[in-house]
Amino acid sequence: MKRVVIAGAGQGGFQVAASLRQDGFDGEVLLFGDEPGLPYQRPPLSKEYIKTGNAERLLFRNADFFDKNAIRYLDGRSLTTIDRADRTVELDDGQTHGFDHLVLALGARNRRLPIPGMDFDGVMQLRTLADAERIRAAIAPGLSLVVIGGGFIGLEIAATAAAAGARVTVLEATDRLMSRVVSPAISAHFLAMHQACGVDVRLGTMARGIRGNDRGRAAAVEIDEGASIEADIVLVSAGIVPNVEIAEAAGIYVQDGIRVNDLMETSDPHISAIGDCASFPFGRDGILIRLESVQNAIDQAKCVVQRLLGHPEPYDKVPWFWSDQAAFKLQIAGLTAGADHQVARASDDGAKLTVHCFRQDTLIGVETVNAPADHMMARKLLALPQAPTLGAVEAKDFDLKAVFAAAQA
Ligand SMILES: Cc1cc2nc3c(=O)[nH]c(=O)nc-3n(C[C@H](O)[C@H](O)[C@H](O)COP(=O)(O)OP(=O)(O)OC[C@H]3O[C@@H](n4cnc5c(N)ncnc54)[C@H](O)[C@@H]3O)c2cc1C
Repeated sequence: MKRVVIAGAGQGGFQVAASLRQDGFDGEVLLFGDEPGLPYQRPPLSKEYIKTGNAERLLFRNADFFDKNAIRYLDGRSLTTIDRADRTVELDDGQTHGFDHLVLALGARNRRLPIPGMDFDGVMQLRTLADAERIRAAIAPGLSLVVIGGGFIGLEIAATAAAAGARVTVLEATDRLMSRVVSPAISAHFLAMHQACGVDVRLGTMARGIRGNDRGRAAAVEIDEGASIEADIVLVSAGIVPNVEIAEAAGIYVQDGIRVNDLMETSDPHISAIGDCASFPFGRDGILIRLESVQNAIDQAKCVVQRLLGHPEPYDKVPWFWSDQAAFKLQIAGLTAGADHQVARASDDGAKLTVHCFRQDTLIGVETVNAPADHMMARKLLALPQAPTLGAVEAKDFDLKAVFAAAQA
């Protein structure tokens, strides 16, 4: 293996380049991505960055790192075509680069809602640093922000904007917040918190359209039965769509994301895909999923690197995720969607909450609020070859440390 080319310089792409060097790869590494500047982390965009505007703290590494590690890095360059027969990629400026192995780490883009008014000024979405800069510049005390979508990113921005003195309304189409990914207990906990922070949360409410003023700026969001909510800014946070089109055009198999096996190989063994753009077999049943998280992008990057260096190991990491909203740190270990039984326990002072989620009697995930030690223990427990049952967890009075000790004994 002489030359690895990595398309997409976000969380996963950067990690492939860094791990190749860290683990001793001595061939050529070319990393390129379509955003300007050095590779950076996205999670702080909806958290610290909106408050501080400190873009330097987002960088994974500064420019020296790329020079010292002989990683050739091209910013502001898009992949346009993959020629699988010649094993070359073509970029938007016409450059072509040959590869022995190509890693697709192309991430995802925001889903555009099929409602009128999405193009008015003041309608925003958040994926990139440039998006975050625009949102940060727009948030001000007294203005009204309507967030369409009560998921992680929309709620993080809602909390920050409310703390900055904006009047914030969140519209969520389903009957609870973050409904796709957390248990009802966590949804209720965060609903109460956002309401206490002054956010007007409207559940079961669809945005039907965005109305503009005569200067082409967003002025209101139309909801049901002719009602509307005044808005200076509208943040549309309604999920993402994986970037699969270039792979698909090259004849690589796509199914929700770029389909990979448990070694992160696409249908072309010279091409891997990782992170938000890849769908992969998960768990004992091998169900096909796509995960949108830092953990997933990093661990899949490491999985590819190990394989390229001759140590293939099937990907089987425990998923984990976090979200910071106001003073609440939500952490999730495992995948809790699809749980058929949940047990929620709050600490006596109500400051912490832990929800154990079971499916068919087996622990599949643990959600915690402001309980980082429980989260870390849950990650270890879920990595055991046999996940504990409800009986085992209940027998130890939901003390995960005790369950872990018992499972290891
Ligand atoms: C605001 C925000 C907050 C988040 N918060 C959290 C969090 O708290 N916890 C968590 O676990 N996860 C969080 N995430 C998700 C996490 O950041 C992603 O799951 C992770 O970045 C995925 O890594 P990736 O490498 O697959 O994609 P990305 O990091 O998105 O990188 C993909 C890169 O490829 C580029 N690209 C796309 N098409 C092309 C092309 N044709 N040519 C060249 N380059 C291309 C993209 O522009 C991008 O730079 C957050 C995401 C956002 C947007």
